[in-house]
Formats: sequence, structure tokens, C-alpha cells
Amino acid sequence: GGKLINGVAFARQLRSEIRQEAENLHAVHGILPTLAVVMVGEDPASAVYVRNKIRATEQAGMRSVSHHLPASTQEGELLALIAALNVDETVHGILVQLPLPEQINRDAVLDAIAPAKDVDGFHIVNAGLLAVGRHDGFIPCTPKGCMMLLHSVLPELAGLHAVVVGCSNIVGRPMARLLQQAGCTVTVTHLQTRDVAAETRRADIVVVAAGHPGLVRGDWIKPGAVVIDVGINRAETPQGARIVGDVAFDEVYPHAAAITPVPGGVGPMTIACLLQNTLRAAQGLAAD
Ligand code: NAD
Repeated sequence: GGKLINGVAFARQLRSEIRQEAENLHAVHGILPTLAVVMVGEDPASAVYVRNKIRATEQAGMRSVSHHLPASTQEGELLALIAALNVDETVHGILVQLPLPEQINRDAVLDAIAPAKDVDGFHIVNAGLLAVGRHDGFIPCTPKGCMMLLHSVLPELAGLHAVVVGCSNIVGRPMARLLQQAGCTVTVTHLQTRDVAAETRRADIVVVAAGHPGLVRGDWIKPGAVVIDVGINRAETPQGARIVGDVAFDEVYPHAAAITPVPGGVGPMTIACLLQNTLRAAQGLAAD
């Protein structure tokens, strides 16, 4: 009992705190925190993410401005929009939904966002601040949410051995940096790792962000470890299409001291952390 980490409840609490702070900022200082959400093209999954982010922003007492550009948009047009948002004083956060169409260079776009408005934390300046252990940049939302969930079950992380599966710039890599800064000894594994299971078996904390349904099996986990499943994968089951994580949940659950479910674990925290970063941007504080 007590093993499931309830990301829905944690995120709800965080969102209500953010809403209070946002309302306070508006009432006392006349600043209405505003997030600009930019989407290019018609990717259906992206459209769902964008809708959810806009709705959550408004429910948190903040404003969102949405820019939906056609799939044929050229890089120069998108860069011009970002340049305009960068100098718009009524806009505090800018989010460009990924993926972008292939004629657009993703890195050029992310690095065009003013670092102080980069609420996703993907700009090279914010990635660099995190890499050198400084706390005045924006931290990417998903790893930031994972750290909050970890702290909710493990108040002290120092000295623990953490294994991260996956090393994307969006999740795995910033996650490893945050764990290291919290005092963990960190092993990062990826597609080229010879024996991922041999690494995870030694871990007190396992964070999985591989995009591979059911990758982490029951015997990959040391008894008493804490498992954070970042994966969001569509799977066909006899009961129809379902969202599943990167962890074989039913196998791992009996061994783990605590584990995030999918859905209802990391996912809701990602949006809550986006709202928190947007609030910080509006407050003129990048750091937490
Ligand atoms: P990505 O494809 O950019 O990176 C995947 C990483 O996992 C790579 O480093 C790759 O080397 C590694 N990997 C893949 N298969 C592996 C294997 N068999 N063994 C070891 N390493 C392996 O993906 P991403 O953007 O980091 O996302 C990962 C997963 O997390 C996806 O399912 C994605 O949908 C999900 N995700 C969830 C949230 C959320 O809010 N919960 C946010 C972002 C991503």
C-alpha cells in the first residue's frame, strides 16, 4: 500500500498554488502572466497537447495567446513571429510545440526564443545553466516534475544511485543533471548501452524515458527502488487502444517501493511545471 505516486493529486495541488500566486501578481502588480503557444502544422498529438496547455494556463488564472501556423510555414516566418513575441511586453512565456515540419530547423527556432521567456527550458542558454549547476535558468518541465514526485517519496536523495534510461535533451539528459545536483550518483543509459538491465538492477531510483512500451521488466528493478515512468505510448490491447508507459507496470509494481502510473503520474506534472515556469517568467524570476 501507499506505493503509487499520485501525479494527478500532486499536480492539482501545485496548480492551485500557482493560481493563487498568479492572481496575486495580477491583483497587486497588474501583471497578467501570459503564455504564447506556437504550433506549426496539423500533427494530431501536438494539437491535443497544445489544447491541454492552453486550457491549463487559463484554469490557472493566466492568459494564453495561441499562434497556429500552416504546415507549409517557412523557417523565416516562424523566426519572425518569435522575434515579435520576444519584444512583446505582454507575453512572458513562449512555447513552440515540437515536432516542427522538416523544412524548419528545430534548434534554430528554440535558440531564437529569448532565454527569459523560454518556459520549456530548451534554449542552449538554459540547458547550459542547468549543465553547470546554476539555478537561474528555466528547467525543462518533465524532468522538473519528475524531481518533485521523487522528493515527495524520498526527501533525501543524496548518496542514492540513480539510473536514467534515455538521454534526450527534453527528458533524460536534464533529468540526469538534476539528479546529480541533488546528490545522486547517476548512470545514464541509452540505445547504445550494452546491458541496460544490469545498470537498472543496481539502482535506488530508476527514471525511464525511452519511448518503448514495457521496456523495463520486473527483474530489472531492485526490491525497494523508486521507479518513475515518463513514457507515453499508444498501445493496442484486447480492450482497445490505451496509453502505456515504458515500464511493465504489473511486473515492476510488486518490487518497487514507489512507482508512477501511466497515465496519472508524470504527465500531469509536466503541465503543472509549465505553468510554474510561466508564472516565474511573469514574476521576472527564472530561478525557483
Ligand atoms: P526520444 O526518442 O527523444 O529519446 C529516447 C531516448 O531513449 C534516447 O536517448 C534513446 O537512446 C533511448 N532509448 C530508446 N530505446 C531504448 C532502449 N531500448 N534501451 C535504452 N535506451 C533506449 O524520446 P523523449 O522525447 O525523451 O521521450 C521518451 C518517452 O517519454 C516517450 O514515450 C515520450 O512520449 C515520453 N514523454 C513524456 C512526457 C510526459 O509529460 N510524461 C514528456 C516528454 C516525453
